[in-house]
Amino acid sequence: MDTPLDSASTPMYDAVRPAPRALATEAVHAGRDDLARQGLHAPPIDLSTTYPSYDSRAEAARIDAFATDGAELDGTPVYGRLGNPTVARFETALARLEGTESAVAFASGMAALSAVLLVRSAMGLRHVVAVRPLYGCSDHLLTAGLLGTEVTWTDPAGITDALRPDTGLVMVETPANPTLAEVDLRAVAHACGSVPLLADNTFATPVLQRPAEQGARLVLHSATKYLGGHGDVMAGVVACDEELAGRLRQVRFATGGVLHPLAGYLLLRGLSTLPVRVRAASATAAELAARLADDPRVARVHYPSIGGAMVAFEVHGDPHDVIGGVGLITPAVSLGSVDTLIQHPASISHRIVDADDRRGAGVGDRLLRMSVGLEDVEDLWADLDRALGARPGQPQVRGLHQAMS
Ligand SMILES: *Cc1c(COP(=O)(O)O)cnc(C)c1O
Repeated sequence: MDTPLDSASTPMYDAVRPAPRALATEAVHAGRDDLARQGLHAPPIDLSTTYPSYDSRAEAARIDAFATDGAELDGTPVYGRLGNPTVARFETALARLEGTESAVAFASGMAALSAVLLVRSAMGLRHVVAVRPLYGCSDHLLTAGLLGTEVTWTDPAGITDALRPDTGLVMVETPANPTLAEVDLRAVAHACGSVPLLADNTFATPVLQRPAEQGARLVLHSATKYLGGHGDVMAGVVACDEELAGRLRQVRFATGGVLHPLAGYLLLRGLSTLPVRVRAASATAAELAARLADDPRVARVHYPSIGGAMVAFEVHGDPHDVIGGVGLITPAVSLGSVDTLIQHPASISHRIVDADDRRGAGVGDRLLRMSVGLEDVEDLWADLDRALGARPGQPQVRGLHQAMS
């Protein structure tokens, strides 16, 4: 599993390009290579919004350079919206894990996607080709055209025919939220020709899949999910080549969707355990998927061929009763945390998508989506088993249940 990564290093912290290192090693060390030389162990958190400089001629030249190519500023930072050293550590680390030149972090996954759309439409390329399903709010952003973009929905086989002279982006999610449907990234990247392919890699993480190696030019994460990993930080990030990264930094500077430095710190810490968390949770998820597939109360189980910690399943009974019946498992939207979460996509994560479009994308009304955490598999199965048997109209009293177990 641990293949060496030999991506180009990003400028801010890796002055000397390190030898190729395995993913697990990068997860712990990338973005921290300068710390020991500075006599530090944990990375410092730089909360400054502004930075003193007695040489305003030099500042003018640096701002001109940023306006030209959006490259990260050399030397001391200028202003928080132009770049932050703690956030840059996370960006360096994520780029190394995804095998891209650069990465640019944002306040949320949706802020990151918005910046990509703005970069492309600023170039007059306002048309997007996208494959359903996508995360509900990504679907909504494209369908509503809030940022002046226009979308054509297609299946992977229809991408080439859907391309137009003004197509600026092709977007896919694999495994997709919430059905865990997979697309062949290499084939899709080929179908895109010269149009950049954006792959949302939130569900797989670079531990299971590195889309840039398969031809995606932009790799998007809701870092709120597995990268943070503990349900306590909201963030987004785009891993890509330095040319696009420069444009994304310029949009971030102009529109302000910056990541807070404390979030950058928490994300860097989250990355260090990412491979261990993803592998442990995936093993449990695979076991739960197998048990669900054997269960007569379950009509269908969706589990990706590449593995992962997400399981989706359709129940014969009322899915709302399952949500109301869990005790150990938390009934909540979001995913990728250390604890197991379950939600009903048609009610929450994909509610904003038109009902016909939603069903057409395979998001049925009996589908449940579960994000498997790090609990013991038997405890999780006992909870699921009880919830699947929950009698209609009798939601469990959670406080009481927990007090007794
Ligand atoms: C959650 C999610 C997003 C949106 O990210 P936020 O951090 O909530 O803005 C985008 N894509 C996928 C696949 C997601 O699960």
